[in-house]
Amino acid sequence: MRGLIWFRRDLRTLDNTALIDAIRAVSDSQDDNQGLLALFVVTPEQWQEHHLSPMQADLIRLRLLTLSTELKALNISLAVETVDNFSNCPSLITEVCQRFDIEQVFANAEYELNETTRDAQVEEALTEHDVAFTLCSDKCVFTPGSLLNKQGSYCKVFTPFKKTWLQRFSVEQSVVHKPKSLDVNSLYDQGLEYKGDLTYPTVDSAQWHNNTKDVIAELRRFAIERASDYQQDRDFPALDGTSLLSPYLAIGMLSVRQCIARLLNGRHPEQLNEGEQTWLSELIWREFYQHLIYFEPKLCKGRSFVLWSDNLHWQGENEHLEKWQRGETGYPIIDAAMKQLYQTGWMHNRLRMVVASFLTKDLLLDWHDGEAYFMSQLVDGDFAANNGGWQWSASTGCDAQPYFRIFNPISQGQKFDPDGSFVKQWLPELKAVPTKYVHSPWLWADFPSLDYPDPIVDHKQQREKALQMYKDAKASGS
Ligand SMILES: Cc1cc2nc3c(=O)[nH]c(=O)nc-3n(C[C@H](O)[C@H](O)[C@H](O)COP(=O)(O)OP(=O)(O)OC[C@H]3O[C@@H](n4cnc5c(N)ncnc54)[C@H](O)[C@@H]3O)c2cc1C
Repeated sequence: MRGLIWFRRDLRTLDNTALIDAIRAVSDSQDDNQGLLALFVVTPEQWQEHHLSPMQADLIRLRLLTLSTELKALNISLAVETVDNFSNCPSLITEVCQRFDIEQVFANAEYELNETTRDAQVEEALTEHDVAFTLCSDKCVFTPGSLLNKQGSYCKVFTPFKKTWLQRFSVEQSVVHKPKSLDVNSLYDQGLEYKGDLTYPTVDSAQWHNNTKDVIAELRRFAIERASDYQQDRDFPALDGTSLLSPYLAIGMLSVRQCIARLLNGRHPEQLNEGEQTWLSELIWREFYQHLIYFEPKLCKGRSFVLWSDNLHWQGENEHLEKWQRGETGYPIIDAAMKQLYQTGWMHNRLRMVVASFLTKDLLLDWHDGEAYFMSQLVDGDFAANNGGWQWSASTGCDAQPYFRIFNPISQGQKFDPDGSFVKQWLPELKAVPTKYVHSPWLWADFPSLDYPDPIVDHKQQREKALQMYKDAKASGS
């Protein structure tokens, strides 16, 4: 049997369900015509439409090179093909199958609307050519759609989702599966070999790992040295308190099972300490948002989860969007966070919530603009987590922050960056500001000597306007 393993956001050989199934199917087949080809498809127009960041594209580019080496060690060749967008995938995959006499295509399921539509179209095209298409469940511990509450409907609130998740979880679900090496001839075509070029703009991602060994070492280090302190450290951006593994989970260099297996290290979730349990909860949040897009495809069409919030009349000034993006709002915690994002492709979770609140409830600008900008910058951009995070912050989402809770950018800074070290790291122009004023430098007598802007809006005034804006939307329909 000849098979094709189609890689998407699952760029790993270890614990990759579709790859393992494909190797097994090919190895178990009895005929002489055995072989397995791996394929990755670059879709530049689609990526642009999805706002894929140049930094994540670069991480994918580099990862494909290391993945190709890992696959060679398993006797599998990786081909990389480019088509404009998802709608070209059915013909491309069919052509590759015909060229290599492939009988079965394996891939791991994705749950975003465009991705599920693409896969349905690919399946239809393959069926016409008598090629089987097998989609495996890999991205989450529980396949999206499979965790329901006692009434048989899906959980719209995180806490019951997490409770059900933990009740149904068994340690076997976190077993990390290793692929066997393919003991047959590799399918190989010189013309398909990947040279490390993508027809997509890229920005150097060298500060992130593209090698499996290094990522696993990071996971190990976090689980052993920092997970226990996660609960107390995770909200302080100046501390090394979170795992920084999100880029690898986002492009599938790492599986959620690898994370959980390393965290548990032979224990049951109940035996974890508080810090470790909190980290597990974050991995469950990731699953919650995957389940949500599965049940609510409207989220992939730009709709809010809460119906009345589609009536929000955003009344902010357009030029403030650029100031927010550039980190020139005059609020140090916001500006430092936005500079961190721009320079590293990553932003601390506490700050993602604070800057998202600021865009929507201080600048009164549409969360969709923030969502798109984040995707265009984040090295860990993931549609479900990003949409979930934005809708949570904008109070338009499932189990979201109530609209009357509005983060104060000054007190958030004082609470989570008390000595201002995070702010000073990203805004060196504030180095001389005494700690007392670092989150409200305009109150410092020497402020005029600084090369730093006045606040672009007054938080108290904007808060009142935001409350009214939300009240009006709520009153105008459900
Ligand atoms: C407005 C906004 C946008 C966001 N956009 C993204 C995004 O595009 N991609 C993304 O992976 N996360 C996103 N998040 C969630 C979260 O901020 C990041 O996952 C986290 O900061 C990544 O850092 P870490 O790996 O050190 O996380 P850790 O704290 O170490 O958590 C471990 C892992 O759990 C998952 N996780 C943690 N928190 C969340 C959460 N709230 N929702 C979903 N998954 C979570 C991530 O995969 C993360 O790597 C967003 C949050 C907000 C508020």
